[in-house]
Amino acid sequence: MIREVGPRDGLQNEQQVFPPDTRAELVRRLAATGLKRIEAASFVNPERMPQMAGAEEVVAALDGEGDVVYSGLVLNERGYERLCETGLGEVSFALAATESFSQRNAGASVEESAAAAERIVARATGDGIRASLTISVAFGCPFEGRVDPSRVVEIAERLSGLEPVEIVLADTIGVATPTEVRRLLERVKGLGVPVGGHFHNTRNTGYANAYAALEAGAALLDASVGGLGGCPFAPRATGNIATEDLVYLLEGEGVETGIDLDALIAISRWLEELLGKELEGYLYRVGVS
Ligand code: ZN
Repeated sequence: MIREVGPRDGLQNEQQVFPPDTRAELVRRLAATGLKRIEAASFVNPERMPQMAGAEEVVAALDGEGDVVYSGLVLNERGYERLCETGLGEVSFALAATESFSQRNAGASVEESAAAAERIVARATGDGIRASLTISVAFGCPFEGRVDPSRVVEIAERLSGLEPVEIVLADTIGVATPTEVRRLLERVKGLGVPVGGHFHNTRNTGYANAYAALEAGAALLDASVGGLGGCPFAPRATGNIATEDLVYLLEGEGVETGIDLDALIAISRWLEELLGKELEGYLYRVGVS
């Protein structure tokens, strides 16, 4: 399963701010390619993240029909309440593996975020909303450097008891290499919870990491159309692995995705025009064949 995160993780890290109707248009185009899960919006404070302002308008402009699961990112209960009002079917909650990143990104300690995760997943279960959990900076942190895998496993163990749809391990700053990805995924999967991988291609290891995650039994891979995005804490960093590049790789390896590659490529070309710059992805420049 591929979860498209371009409309959220991608655009939140682009300097250019797109209005809600353009972001909704992007999500609608992505849904038409055969993608089954799309992170459509982020319910964070718009003053801190102007790129994600008007999340409610984005969701309201989506086509609710069909079998695509749309989700929104939240970092606290305020965000969850906003998401709830929109009628979205899935909440994605992210907490950091390190104190420094947690404070900078969510204004809360790791312990406070873990407690918030418990409350939010309980509420989501009661509200009939799917809950997916992400542990960000699971391999490395821009403030604390390398992250001890045991620390991530400890957090994952606590979260696994909540029975989320999956726990996604995120290499937010793109420092991981395949062997450590495989080892950490296997340990978290051993907790009896589906595991996902979220890789930034900052050091050009993102695709190798995604493939290693797949081999380690990942149930979900995040990717961003065109490789949109970057990292707010690393000005020259590149974004997520590009969805179309990942799909090309997977299909070539015999993994069926059900995604129309040409349609995906057309979206990246459209985004290139909108952003007025070349994107990080490779496939959209040359095509499938
Ligand atoms: Zn990310």
